[in-house]
Amino acid sequence: MKDIKEVETGILDELKNTSIDASKCMQCGVCSASCPSGRHTTLNIRKLVRIAGKTTDILSSEELWMCTTCYNCQERCPRNINIVDILLDIRAISVHQGFIHPEHRAVCEMLLEYGHAVPINEKNRKKRVNLGLEELPETVHKYVDGLEEVKSLLASCGFGKLIEHTESGVTEDKT
Ligand code: SF4
Ligand code: SF4
Repeated sequence: MKDIKEVETGILDELKNTSIDASKCMQCGVCSASCPSGRHTTLNIRKLVRIAGKTTDILSSEELWMCTTCYNCQERCPRNINIVDILLDIRAISVHQGFIHPEHRAVCEMLLEYGHAVPINEKNRKKRVNLGLEELPETVHKYVDGLEEVKSLLASCGFGKLIEHTESGVTEDKT
């Protein structure tokens, strides 16, 4: 796991630029009260908005990944703050800095190898048929010639290199 102290300088500026909108927050708590994930996890979106742009600790925060991006909070915020968009930008910075959950990394590796986040196997084929679906989904599983195109698309945008650069975990929550 990457030590947050190793995070290159300038990231705080990047976070600040990403989170300018968050400075309009009046900490009313409407976002947290509207958050379905917050009822079942430690996610406190009001707190994340408060610290957005202020500390690099947010980059290794577990909470950053507990949001399901349902947009409830953003739709209800009385200050019209782009809460979820800010969160997604911070997630992107976080991954570029090498922080990623092992589970997310595994999904990315599946995508890189199979062009699909969920590889097909005998069990999944049977399940699909039992559900009345075609044995193979309308993806590279069915159109296998498309796999090389998907791989070259992922390579062209640097996705493989990005995932290689990440560690297999995030640090404990420091926010
Ligand atoms: S609803 Fe908007 S203004 Fe209120 S705490 Fe959340 S982000 Fe801040
Ligand atoms: S978008 Fe995320 S933070 Fe906002 S209400 Fe939904 S789960 Fe909560």
